[in-house]
Amino acid sequence: MNSYELTISQARTALDNKELSSRELTSSCLERIRSVDDTVHSFISVTEKEALQQADAADREIAQGTVAQLCGIPFSLKDLLCTRGVTTTCGSKILENFVPPYDATVVEKLKEQGAVILGKVAMDEFAMGSTSETCVFTIPENPWNPGFVAGGSSGGSAASVAAMECLGSLGSDTGGSIRQPASLCGVVGLKPTYGRVSRYGLVAFASSLDQIGPLTRDVTDSAMVMNGISGYDKRDSTSVKQDIPDFTNALSEGMKGLRVGIPREYFGAGLDGEVAGVVERAIQLLRDAGAETVEVSLPHTEYCVAVYYLIASAEASSNLARYDGVVYGYRDQNAESLIDMYRETRSNGFGDEVKRRILIGTYALSSGYYDAYYKKASQVRTLILNDFQKAYESCDLIISPVTPTPAWRRGAHADDPLALYLSDILTISANLAGIPGLSVPGGFSSDGLPIGIQLQGPHFQEEVLLKAAYNLELGTELGNRCPEI
Ligand code: GLN
Repeated sequence: MNSYELTISQARTALDNKELSSRELTSSCLERIRSVDDTVHSFISVTEKEALQQADAADREIAQGTVAQLCGIPFSLKDLLCTRGVTTTCGSKILENFVPPYDATVVEKLKEQGAVILGKVAMDEFAMGSTSETCVFTIPENPWNPGFVAGGSSGGSAASVAAMECLGSLGSDTGGSIRQPASLCGVVGLKPTYGRVSRYGLVAFASSLDQIGPLTRDVTDSAMVMNGISGYDKRDSTSVKQDIPDFTNALSEGMKGLRVGIPREYFGAGLDGEVAGVVERAIQLLRDAGAETVEVSLPHTEYCVAVYYLIASAEASSNLARYDGVVYGYRDQNAESLIDMYRETRSNGFGDEVKRRILIGTYALSSGYYDAYYKKASQVRTLILNDFQKAYESCDLIISPVTPTPAWRRGAHADDPLALYLSDILTISANLAGIPGLSVPGGFSSDGLPIGIQLQGPHFQEEVLLKAAYNLELGTELGNRCPEI
């Protein structure tokens, strides 16, 4: 067995028992990147020298005694997490040469615990998209079937974990961008509760929705990474002072007495038959493990796509106003006046999808339209949250598909942004409501493409999701699977 094939928990044991060094593990991942990334295309930059230095430092710590859980473990990072001294592009030409002078809090936490950072991975430009195809630098392929999308926007994170180029990755989820690529690539992706993980140093897309979380090869690893990244941070005013449990503790608890809600609105028209079949099997597995199932209703689901694209675009238009060529990244060199410089920088620096969002968002916020669009969307957002709160009176978690279909061919929706927006229908309510959501592998389509199961829970109940996901993983035996590449 190659050491890159180990899960984080297996590698932890091997490192602690001195059967493996972090340098060996890191070198094995770097070698794997060299051999498969020409096919998978997940990495925008590989920081080999720094990674090996971090691995050596981890080995010195391990030699001295007990270390943090993630010490010596190699990760990839979505390229919107600021890394001191390492280019952070957001997948965009406008940030092509942006080298942050500081680390995001989650990066700082990984480094403090002795983790190894292998490099930065592909994403849709500014995290806007569902396929990672708007990334300007490299477009990840689905490791299970190159030619199909890896999903997005954290497509590089999901593909790099599924292709075993790293043991885990951090991504971000504004409307499904951790859960959807995790589902399409057959890995575990967790979007924590809004406020659970600091977003300091995450390049902002939509600040009331963005959340950072782990993509890993199994559920135990997801819990381990959550232990490492959660917690209040005074530099992120939206992070919450809340006790952090040991997320691995709940895993081995059974499902007895747990009430699993099945939301009828998530199984409507447009749901692929194979996806429905995989979810039905998962429901049965949870019943077999001792859970009760109840039908629940989330009646405002039909509005969530419209509400999300108004709110997310409005916030994006405001957040992206800072890219004007003055302080960050790309600047047009030919303009003769300041206004021309702004116009040319933004016209040439941003891609079409980003510009589309800025236009929608600016329109929705403009005087005379604010009440009709942004304010109305915010009111409906509250109704969506109320739906979940009502549902959680009769269940402890909600099970559903992650996406209406398995992965599709690259380029399939290139001229139809609306079709892509609609494919987010099952993931975006969790962001609007601020609740945690998780995707765990459930099965495969007849084309051999992975299909994930989504679990959503009340605020700060990640442990319940991890426990249920762990039980599903035991039933499906789909933890730590790797395609032939
Ligand atoms: N696909 C959604 C969008 O395009 C979600 C993106 C995300 O979660 N970052 O906005």
